Amino acid sequence: MIPRSQYTTDKPAYEVDQEVFRRFPVPKQAFVTLGQKDTGQTGILYSLEKMFAAMGNNIMKNTPGKTRLDYALHLGANAVNMVLGEYGLPNSHFLKWEPLFIPELLTERPVETDPETLTELVKNAANVYGSDMTGITGLDKKWVYSQDLEKPFVFQDVAKPAETENEFIIPDSVTHAIVMGVGMNMDFIDTSPAVLASTAASVGYSRMGILAVSLAEFIRSLGYIAIPCMNDTALSIPLAVDAGLGEIGRHGLLITPEFGSSVRLCKVLTNMPLIPDKPIDMGMTDFCNQCLLCADVCPSSAISKGKPTFDGVCENNNPGIKKWYIDAEACLKFWQINGTDCAQCISVCPFTYGYEWSQCVKCERCETTQGCALHVVTFLRQKYGYIKDAHWGSRPVNNPLLRTGL
Ligand code: SF4
Ligand code: SF4
Repeated sequence: MIPRSQYTTDKPAYEVDQEVFRRFPVPKQAFVTLGQKDTGQTGILYSLEKMFAAMGNNIMKNTPGKTRLDYALHLGANAVNMVLGEYGLPNSHFLKWEPLFIPELLTERPVETDPETLTELVKNAANVYGSDMTGITGLDKKWVYSQDLEKPFVFQDVAKPAETENEFIIPDSVTHAIVMGVGMNMDFIDTSPAVLASTAASVGYSRMGILAVSLAEFIRSLGYIAIPCMNDTALSIPLAVDAGLGEIGRHGLLITPEFGSSVRLCKVLTNMPLIPDKPIDMGMTDFCNQCLLCADVCPSSAISKGKPTFDGVCENNNPGIKKWYIDAEACLKFWQINGTDCAQCISVCPFTYGYEWSQCVKCERCETTQGCALHVVTFLRQKYGYIKDAHWGSRPVNNPLLRTGL
């Protein structure tokens, strides 16, 4: 992980219009709303039925990049994700809110040590389990979903997290989130909208499941509460911003110094006393304001070409935060036609690979004497071993992803 020391900021990570902002409910996600429009049924996966129909069509036609062999590789990569958490269903599968395999004598009493030591232990454990970047933040309840598909998430003064017939109960004592990122294979992502790019995402999802489950069990073994989450329970991107892992770009995704947006996120919520990290400012808002690459290539015109606003552009947005909003149903409709998901906005973003001169052709200004945000990130990637070779005349060559964990 590239040290964040030169990027940390005391500025608030978000501008929030408190009059407008409300916690986001899962039924407003495009996966749910589009699935309802298509099938009349409520769930996360119904919107993918058309995508699977297009998959069958691609296989029948032997479409290059979308053959049966391509889909087979993708489905194998996704298997561990489906076993452990199915993209993230709260308190379900192996994402249970109770200890899975920990002897009771270890969960009864928390280990007695200081927050600095616990923070170091947790980050080291995350690394052992395969995290490529780990940050800690105080848990801002704004980012916890107001409800899952049916039941609300509530905070109460209780000893343990619980699910009842009517609600998911998170103890008031759960005040921190450990956010972890796994880098995706950039060469696979570069093939988007082919299936190999989806394979990179699926490997990421499977690794997310391993990470969230393993770190939660580690924390429980030290006597603390742990709620393992993939996409469920709380919004991963704003938590990752708060934890200093990166910034939000025009395409609505996290941009990190190490991998740009070629990264997947998971988190563990806990009552363990930990030292939070600070948000970072790499200058992404200024950079994205003058760069329109993702908006230009998006096949569904889902990405805004304007300035950040507090107003959403569709029913799937959560207005009240100043940022670029994405037309999420338009994006998903392209996935349905494509027969697999899309990562065009990730593959084209110059922060995915690092500085290349063609970006300068479109850019109107060099912001600092050291170069722009992209120059600085590219230099740091080379310094810390993420880039093999950065010639300023061509796209940098990334080193293969280093895996030290599970
Ligand atoms: S994933 Fe594809 S369709 Fe969706 S916003 Fe990105 S480029 Fe557009
Ligand atoms: S492609 Fe350009 S505008 Fe889009 S997220 Fe990346 S840097 Fe920002």
